[in-house]
Amino acid sequence: MPERVVRPADVPITGEGFGAVYRAYRKWSHANRAGLGTELGVELAQPDHLEAAVNGLLTAAVPVGLLKTDTQAPHPLLDPDARIVVALEETPERRAAVRRAVAVAAAQRGLMQRVNTPSNFKQAGRFAETVRQSADHHGFACEVWDETGLEAAGFHALLAVNRGSEHPARFLVLEYKGPEIRKKIGLIGKGVTYDSGGYSIKPTDSMMHMRSDMAGAATVVAAFEAAADLRLPLHLVGAIPLTDNLVDARSYRPGDVIGSHLGKTIEVADTDAEGRLILADALSWITERHPDLDHIVDLATLTGAAIRALGPQAAALFATDDHLARALSEAGETAGERVWRLPLWDVYADDLHSDVADIRNIGAKPVAGAITAAKFLQVFTRNHPSWAHIDIAGTAYGDTEFGRHKNATGWGLRLLLNWWTVDSGQSHSPTVPKSQSPIDPKSQ
Ligand SMILES: [Zn+2]
Repeated sequence: MPERVVRPADVPITGEGFGAVYRAYRKWSHANRAGLGTELGVELAQPDHLEAAVNGLLTAAVPVGLLKTDTQAPHPLLDPDARIVVALEETPERRAAVRRAVAVAAAQRGLMQRVNTPSNFKQAGRFAETVRQSADHHGFACEVWDETGLEAAGFHALLAVNRGSEHPARFLVLEYKGPEIRKKIGLIGKGVTYDSGGYSIKPTDSMMHMRSDMAGAATVVAAFEAAADLRLPLHLVGAIPLTDNLVDARSYRPGDVIGSHLGKTIEVADTDAEGRLILADALSWITERHPDLDHIVDLATLTGAAIRALGPQAAALFATDDHLARALSEAGETAGERVWRLPLWDVYADDLHSDVADIRNIGAKPVAGAITAAKFLQVFTRNHPSWAHIDIAGTAYGDTEFGRHKNATGWGLRLLLNWWTVDSGQSHSPTVPKSQSPIDPKSQ
């Protein structure tokens, strides 16, 4: 038996289900890190609760204070020799639950670390390089397009947003093909590595948090890492536009009209509505290049309106497919990462009318901003019948146990993984990851 065993009585749980267990164990692991060793027994009988608990225990090992000059002791469970031990009888189901949790926690830590990294350490090129390294490590493909490639392919909206930056934009194309593929899914993540708002400049208080404006991109990368480690039976194609949004003599301005990959002209009414511009090019590219995708999901820290509507408790979901919307809602409920569906009624598109161009990038009235943003994106999906947009502005970054100020929450990866489980009609823990050592948390 390990020296230390965590028992259900040690961990107060508020609420029910996977998300509640995950959150409680994550908090516990963080609060008790000083007293933990490198071996920890977990006493939970039910495999999905065991999985949630181990996931929480190991996600809490995410390093914080990375740029502090006094060296901080890492969480003991991040030690190369750290082990999680099933404290009850080690059935194959429990063993598989732990293996899965180890892989997901590693991807979640990577996601949180990417989001928490200050913007001056993750400009587009640098961010792209870390994803390329991760792709090599986990076994999925990663193409990095530079500005020449973007010009040639006609990513005019992404390039317009990038004009004010000294760091050229990048576009990442990720691809993962699992065994016995059941579905081909497109994943798009907003990768604004810093958002000042541009000439429609943000107030300092909100600018402070804008390192998190690439959380959609980080979630997509984490989904590829987890899918590859768990060998999920999917074909995934990822599209990640990367740029910052800054003020410069060359920056695009309110009133400018820009082009787009789809060919439509866009009147820029607000340079702070840049996320939808770079996503527009990614959506147009993915639907042209891969017309056979079963579903397309984009994740983006897109609008303050989504935060005002739902707060940090749920992300705003928009979908052109009721089945997909139900599957994502159900997955979010199980994962403890909720989404709440808002309408995509055509009447909201009226607000995007432009007198000079095909479309405006923001609604003319200061209402329904999350919906008009989604209506804008929909134009660039080439009427894909199963597209979902998840506005994670309220859920990706917020108050956590990891700091006194806002931090990455790790939100979204579990939602996607549970969606794939729900959608394939499988039980909660369908796959066994390829890691040789089943209970070795250091899979990264
Ligand atoms: Zn913005």
